[in-house]
Amino acid sequence: MRKVQYEFPLSEFTSEADFKKVKEFSEDKETPFLVVDLSKVEKMYDELVRNMPYVKIHYAVKANPMDEIISVLRDKGSNFDAATVYEIDQLLRLGVAPERISYGNTIKKEKDIAYAYQKGIRMFATDSQSDLHKIIKNAPGSRVFFRLLTESDGADWPLSRKFGAHPDVIYELILEAHENGLEPYGLSFHVGSQQRDIGQWDNALSKCKYLFEAVSLQGIKLKMINLGGGFPAKYMSPANELETYAHEILRFIQEDFGEEHPEIIIEPGRSLVADAGVIVTEIIMISKKAKLNQYHWVYLDIGKFGGLIETLDECIKYPIYSESEGCEEEVILAGPTCDSMDILYEDHKYVFPESLHENERLYIFTTGAYTQSYSSIAFNGLPPLKAYVI
Ligand SMILES: *Cc1c(COP(=O)(O)O)cnc(C)c1O
Repeated sequence: MRKVQYEFPLSEFTSEADFKKVKEFSEDKETPFLVVDLSKVEKMYDELVRNMPYVKIHYAVKANPMDEIISVLRDKGSNFDAATVYEIDQLLRLGVAPERISYGNTIKKEKDIAYAYQKGIRMFATDSQSDLHKIIKNAPGSRVFFRLLTESDGADWPLSRKFGAHPDVIYELILEAHENGLEPYGLSFHVGSQQRDIGQWDNALSKCKYLFEAVSLQGIKLKMINLGGGFPAKYMSPANELETYAHEILRFIQEDFGEEHPEIIIEPGRSLVADAGVIVTEIIMISKKAKLNQYHWVYLDIGKFGGLIETLDECIKYPIYSESEGCEEEVILAGPTCDSMDILYEDHKYVFPESLHENERLYIFTTGAYTQSYSSIAFNGLPPLKAYVI
């Protein structure tokens, strides 16, 4: 094999100053842990507002529900999309007014709808007759938006199939909501998380246009389209810039709806918080399975159960940085638990310097989203992932 010097494109994921900040903060702390730089969350929010001045932002709380992140976004003026009554309670506790919260999960217990309504929530997502009936009964007069089924082609972390319904179902639901005193407010979809194919928004928007027109023939005027999440974070394989997404999506909207387009909501999760997080981990062990085996196994003190569940099927490829030097070597990366599915990357070979060694710290970038809240409570006795803000 030809020898190539190990080089990591650090500047694509952090500045020298920011990395120094993380390292200094980390020194005396025991790994593994997540460090979230709140100023980066603020910067991402500002960038989103600058690029998409035509949208209303509802942060998808599930991406990272840390109080500090919610508070920063609250002060920026963000709205929030909640998945459960627990998230709703958290938002209210942190002083977010109920008018700024949507209950975006289409899978809801009847008593949870009643609870949310009692707390002042008046905006609900739905995609089925069963759920709609629960909303009619427990949240009278509320605004509802209807979630369309989309393909998740092009997404690194697809959300297809489980959510949304075909336009023929949605059409009936809109009429039924209207007849039963709800306000059919708009439509929503989610093209899949870390969606690389911007054209997917175009496909979904044309379904929206069709439904807007179909129900207007019945005298119902929808007012809003919720474009969901799917906006990119900076993982190993590059995606288009946010600016390109913003520009293209606006073009799709104007093609379908003209300049006087409906109110547009987005529900960014990953793209707002992922780049702000760094996980600091330590190498527990490096070993070989057979004398002549080509690859070393590198076992980290964090794995699938410690917060890196999005490595399932190697969907999300985090940038992982070693400060050692030397020629490149391909390795297999695995987590610390006694579960054989706790392998991070085996098909896709990560490269590290040959001098990589046990007890060395590695830095996993772009880990601010879908990590800490996904980590298990005590699998193998391991505590959930610690998280700090700086
Ligand atoms: C998870 C989720 C989001 C956030 O998606 P990202 O791709 O992380 O931005 C937005 N809307 C809904 C309804 C979701 O379930």
